[in-house]
Amino acid sequence: MTNSDTITDQVFDVESIRKDFPILQTKVYGKPLIYLDNAATTQKPLQVLQTLEKYYTEYNSNVHRGVHLLSQQATEAYEAARKKIAAFINAKHDHEVIFTKGTTNSINLVAYTYGRKFLKEGDEVLISAMEHHSNIVPWQIICEEKNAVLKVIPIDEAGELQMNEFDKLLTPKVKIVAVTYVSNSLGTVNPVREIIAKAHALNIPVLLDGAQAVQHMPLDVQELDVDFLAFSGHKMYGPTGIGILYGKEKWLNDMPPYEGGGDMISHVTFAKTTYNELPFKFEAGTPDISGAIALGSAVDYIQQAGIHAIQQWEEELIAYAYDKLAAIPSLRFIGDARHRAGAISFLIGNIHPFDTGEILDKQSIAVRTGHHCTQPLMELFHIPGTVRASFACYNTKAEVDELVRAIEKAKRMLE
Ligand code: PLP
Repeated sequence: MTNSDTITDQVFDVESIRKDFPILQTKVYGKPLIYLDNAATTQKPLQVLQTLEKYYTEYNSNVHRGVHLLSQQATEAYEAARKKIAAFINAKHDHEVIFTKGTTNSINLVAYTYGRKFLKEGDEVLISAMEHHSNIVPWQIICEEKNAVLKVIPIDEAGELQMNEFDKLLTPKVKIVAVTYVSNSLGTVNPVREIIAKAHALNIPVLLDGAQAVQHMPLDVQELDVDFLAFSGHKMYGPTGIGILYGKEKWLNDMPPYEGGGDMISHVTFAKTTYNELPFKFEAGTPDISGAIALGSAVDYIQQAGIHAIQQWEEELIAYAYDKLAAIPSLRFIGDARHRAGAISFLIGNIHPFDTGEILDKQSIAVRTGHHCTQPLMELFHIPGTVRASFACYNTKAEVDELVRAIEKAKRMLE
């Protein structure tokens, strides 16, 4: 099955999906765990856990280095995972898929290498007002170093990008546009096709932060024609410590290496080092081998469930949650975009989000409270933070009902 298949009529059996996630049997304060903090990290299915165990019990070895059998097996599994991920996002070449530590690491890689080579004084980097700190700070650092300017696409009250302002900000001074596909705080799905098309009309490359996108919707880098895509394994049912940078071959070849060390070299003398070809040029040192292989299993898992079926189920779930939450007096949503995915943020009356979060926790419901690593966005809304319920394919409508019941209890206690 590939993610280009249209599987909208594929049956999605959430109860059987739930059986794959052992942690969902956990009790918190004696009650079944209701895990609604999936935008922070998702839980892992048995298939991923078994891959990790198999690697360490049967063929743990370093990659690309040994002629012995175990090293060959590890290398084959590591490279097979790269192929699976390339197919999942429909990259043209496997070597356009670089293993990193995660989204943050991927964005830093681009900021430091692309930025170091292509930014000069007076140039601009264009991001948006809803970016995660991981897609703000690396650009700030490189802009400061290069005397370049960081510009920000504003958003409106609903939490949508003001595209007329984007049009004005998009000038030939801009050397890269870096925006999130889906907002981790608001759930807004941005019009990335339009952004990419308009940027490309001026030959400006686009980096998409896909941390909150790849697990919720089909994503085809060739169809999007995006230049860079960053995402994290742990937010898509894979392990922590592993992530991906997709980059078009042309850019990756043009960019200098990021870190120096083993695997990224072709030949080293004290006088000069020549660099390895893609993807190894950007994979210095022993990589997270087990993490990469297990991320391959996570991709298999998503493909087997069907990314279209997951998307359809999560949309139904979010619409259900939205309606139920909207009926709670004094609850107000933060962000009300027409196109949303993954997360719902809200506040209840004047209750501080931490207080709501603590009471929900005592009722075995895990939600996120705070600024969600988007402090500038919270400042725009003049709030300290939000309560965020974020969903994965294993969440159910019954869990939403429990969330609503728990919020009503929190209201009775705090209001
Ligand atoms: N970008 C977005 C939109 C995110 O939601 C996150 C994590 O929450 C990140 C970047 C950073 O991801 P990581 O911590 O896995 O590098």
